[in-house]
Amino acid sequence: MSHDQVESIRSQLDEINLQLLELINKRATLVQQLGQEKKKQGINRFDPEREGKMLNLIVENNNGPFSDTAIRHLFKQIFSASLDLQKEDSQKVLLVSRKKQEEDTVVTIKGVQFGGAEKILIAGPCSVESYEQVREVAANHVEQGLRVIRGGAFKPRTSPYDFQGLGLEGLEILKRIGDEFNLVTISEIVTPSDLEMAIKYVDVIQIGARNMQNFELLKAAGRLNHPILLKRGLSATIEEFVYAAEYILSEGNSQVMLCERGIRTYEKATRNTLDISAVPILKQETHLPVFVDVTHSTGRRDLLLPTAKAGLAVGSDGIMVEVHPNPDVALSDAKQQLTIPAFNEMLSNLYASGLYKPEGVAVK
Ligand code: PEP
Ligand code: MN
Repeated sequence: MSHDQVESIRSQLDEINLQLLELINKRATLVQQLGQEKKKQGINRFDPEREGKMLNLIVENNNGPFSDTAIRHLFKQIFSASLDLQKEDSQKVLLVSRKKQEEDTVVTIKGVQFGGAEKILIAGPCSVESYEQVREVAANHVEQGLRVIRGGAFKPRTSPYDFQGLGLEGLEILKRIGDEFNLVTISEIVTPSDLEMAIKYVDVIQIGARNMQNFELLKAAGRLNHPILLKRGLSATIEEFVYAAEYILSEGNSQVMLCERGIRTYEKATRNTLDISAVPILKQETHLPVFVDVTHSTGRRDLLLPTAKAGLAVGSDGIMVEVHPNPDVALSDAKQQLTIPAFNEMLSNLYASGLYKPEGVAVK
């Protein structure tokens, strides 16, 4: 073959490459159009049956020299690249993402800023057991300059025979306490149909670890105009956690706060394994306030102070901890709740660390 012939074939190949390029891009444009139409109609974009039919038609018309197998392989690559194109189209920047909103979301309730300059301590009993019990904790909060009290009224317990919470009566107690002591109240709700009722009683709705992927609950919470504290699922990846928050924002509610509460690992020394690196990751990737629940992550009183310090040091917006007037007789989590004096000691140690100041006093 002469040099000229080689050059001529090369230029034909260049020509065909450009034609192929034009054709696969033309094809991709059609696939995108189809994808948008399917999205509008709520149809799944990946249709394996249709893909099989297209491949069969191509192979039936294959006159070589490529083998049918090679042709199938080539076209599958084109199909999958087109599908990826649809994905890119649909994987828009998440609403929770810092790419969407650079500045921090600050949730302000009763004058308390969650995610603002000051760190917030969310403390209170595991379960609301009586007015007197919560009142004792609340009175101490006021003495200590704290503004946020928690307490479970609907308790998602591992065993159906364990205390399930006081339900509505618990919410009523929290409402009374919140009003009397001017405290922000937080309580978990487990049923979508209870949400509308619960917002009349509590300032923040907690969605607990066991419900982080209860998508109907997340969507219903998203339709509220009320702050939500979303806890990380027992075995949820950070990505799943972020998507769970996205469910709430996607329905229109942007008052969402995140809470790392430890995940299940093989480690048995602690109740869960506190994933401390989740805090800076969530702070970097989302604009939402991030808290660290030291009680449920460790399940150990002796670890509450060091893990609280760690959480604050890595940039959390605050800490959650359980405190009970008489933990030994608590109806849930008796082992890990702090007594009021022990809680106050933890507070003074936190103040001494310089990582936390009582609410209303900005951290230097
Ligand atoms: C709670 O905070 O009361 C609780 C049950 O925690 P979690 O959902 O993180 O287990
Ligand atoms: Mn608890």
